[in-house]
Amino acid sequence: MAISELAQLPQTALVAVSPLYRSTPLGPAGQPYYINAVAAIDTRLSPLALLDGLQAIERRHGRQRGAVRWGPRTLDLDLLLYGEAVIDEPRLTVPHAEMAQRGFVLRPLADIAPLLRLPNGETPQLLCEALPRSEMAGMWLVAAEEAGTCL
Ligand code: ATP
Ligand code: CA
Ligand code: CA
Repeated sequence: MAISELAQLPQTALVAVSPLYRSTPLGPAGQPYYINAVAAIDTRLSPLALLDGLQAIERRHGRQRGAVRWGPRTLDLDLLLYGEAVIDEPRLTVPHAEMAQRGFVLRPLADIAPLLRLPNGETPQLLCEALPRSEMAGMWLVAAEEAGTCL
């Protein structure tokens, strides 16, 4: 549902969507698994207008802010990259501050954009290969049929 709502943002078109990956959660123990994916869009929205749009989608899916950091949530839409922009504002850091350390971000990003370069020249594929094995250990590809029933 989030992917189809991304495609409906104003002045925005969906370009690619990665497979879905199930991952063990960061943060407090005892949470259900997360389902992670990366989407590429073309947009004429500014970075902050896009963030507003992402947060509006999160709210429509029952996301409540201000609870436990990294606690369970219905939907989390992070802006990973915005072209080659480097943004450091109170509400928005791009590239996403943690993306280079997260297998559940780098693996699906490499799936849809293996040759992409981050503003510092790194590629998601090489960053992914450099992660400790433990970072990928708790991650599984979700079959399309299964995704249909669990999402
Ligand atoms: P993490 O950032 O570690 O993935 P999180 O996604 O759980 O944690 P949130 O509570 O969803 O964190 O977001 C906290 C704030 O982070 C948001 O209100 C937003 O203003 C800010 N933020 C900064 N950079 C970004 C970004 N690139 N994408 C999304 N939110 C961002
Ligand atoms: Ca996040
Ligand atoms: Ca977030």
